[in-house]
Amino acid sequence: MSQAAHEQASTTTFEPIPHWIGGERRIATGGRTAPVFNPALGRQIREVPLATADELGEAVAIAKAAAAEWRETSVARRQQVMFAFRELVAARRQQIAETITTEHGKVVSDALGEVARGLEVVELATAFPLLTKGEYTENVSTGVDVYSLRQPLGVVGIISPFNFPAMVPLWFAPIAIAAGNAVVLKPSEKDPSAAVLIAELYQEAGLPDGVLNVVHGDKEAVDALLTHPDVAAISFVGSTPIAQHVYETASREGKRVQALGGAKNHMLVLPDADLDVTADAAVNAGFGSAGERCMAISVVVVVESVADELVARIRDRIAGIRTGDGTRGCDMGPLITQVHRDKVAGYLDVAVADGATLVTDGREVEVDGEADGFWLGPTLVDHVDPSSAVYRDEIFGPVLSVVRVASYEEGMALIAANPYGNGTAIFTNDGGAARRFQHEVEVGMVGVNVPIPVPVGYFSFGGWKSSIFGQGKAYGPHGYQFFTREKVVTSRWLDPSHGGLNLGFPQN
Ligand code: NAD
Repeated sequence: MSQAAHEQASTTTFEPIPHWIGGERRIATGGRTAPVFNPALGRQIREVPLATADELGEAVAIAKAAAAEWRETSVARRQQVMFAFRELVAARRQQIAETITTEHGKVVSDALGEVARGLEVVELATAFPLLTKGEYTENVSTGVDVYSLRQPLGVVGIISPFNFPAMVPLWFAPIAIAAGNAVVLKPSEKDPSAAVLIAELYQEAGLPDGVLNVVHGDKEAVDALLTHPDVAAISFVGSTPIAQHVYETASREGKRVQALGGAKNHMLVLPDADLDVTADAAVNAGFGSAGERCMAISVVVVVESVADELVARIRDRIAGIRTGDGTRGCDMGPLITQVHRDKVAGYLDVAVADGATLVTDGREVEVDGEADGFWLGPTLVDHVDPSSAVYRDEIFGPVLSVVRVASYEEGMALIAANPYGNGTAIFTNDGGAARRFQHEVEVGMVGVNVPIPVPVGYFSFGGWKSSIFGQGKAYGPHGYQFFTREKVVTSRWLDPSHGGLNLGFPQN
């Protein structure tokens, strides 16, 4: 931050972001707060309260009371709320996108894409009666029927990361709510406003107060949610160390947990790939949202014979990327904070020290934006050795590494040895190689000539290995499984032929 920005920060009162509890904006008075920045301006614009365990507990109590009524609300009524909410999100997508861009920095067109992907899950939630139906078998024994019901869990907690402030809440909340649960959502404290806007739209759609609550905070609020006895389940998305903490803590408390973690996504390029298509894909998937996507491609694993040619084509495309303020029609925005920007930039020194070649240095980028913004341009690093931290760590920024390999097998061995298993892609024109890849690769989401294979709403989203902990993936059929529990009823309506003592197991 510049001297002037520091002075401004110390003298200005910032707009407070409210919690959303029991259907109303709740401005916290006193207590801890955190700054919310506009990353393109490089200065604080708002202030977010950091809830105490007591404040979190109050939201859970309100959610618990609301859950008891909401589960009794008819399926038809719940469905109408979902349809109304769908229309409101679609109508206000621009407002949501601009809110995201202001606090996250991603360009508005990308923020609109984020809203569109969240909307897919809302649309799936309108169809929830089809997905939460039970099963029925008549006459399992004479006059005895067995059937299953899927019932809500009660109060569920959702904890979301900074990089998708609208989409990740929309991965979980619509399904949880449609299935009859009440929600306490703890958004990222770095860009919390989109979550409040979504909660307001739910109210406008007719959702009863208290069914969706937004409580801001940091570790204190998260840990209170993980250990609260009235919270039945936790859906978490964030980095792997925190996902593991969330999984272990909430599981110990007897909760159902799904915790999606970090990633290091490889794109394997075979010599027969179309190199123009591949270069486009690498650039789009590597630098979209400044590389702050869990499905970003961060490593291009290319067979040596086409490596020089591919690197040249990627470099040429990078030269055409406009980095700058997300409201000015640029291609790529800033990073989320100055600290994160400096951490990512630090990897470029590590790359050079470890013997890699800096083909394009993002520190030299010319930006269309304010000087104080958290800028780092697209960066291409060639000849990265897998022993380097540049390869091993999730950098989460606009840094695309190239690792050269001798063969398909060597590339596969690299992917297999990596602790993460979120997304991956193969680029080839050989159907047999692609089929072998999808069969063998130990990764949860796989693209064949598709660099960011995020499943559509009616499939489920989740990786393997250290990219996920707990029970089931996000949205799709897994989402319905996660937010409901099955009850099986065995029923017999007495008739006079029944009766008498029999202490043995029924023998039909
Ligand atoms: P993060 O782990 O720092 O934070 C995620 C959430 O956890 C936030 O709400 C935060 O307030 C909370 N939190 C942070 N530290 C905590 C602690 N010590 N104890 C309890 N709670 C804590 O993640 P982030 O930086 O906001 O998001 C980026 C990360 O999320 C990347 O690693 C990215 O790969 C991952 N991500 C994964 C997916 C996926 O689907 N697998 C999707 C999006 C992002």
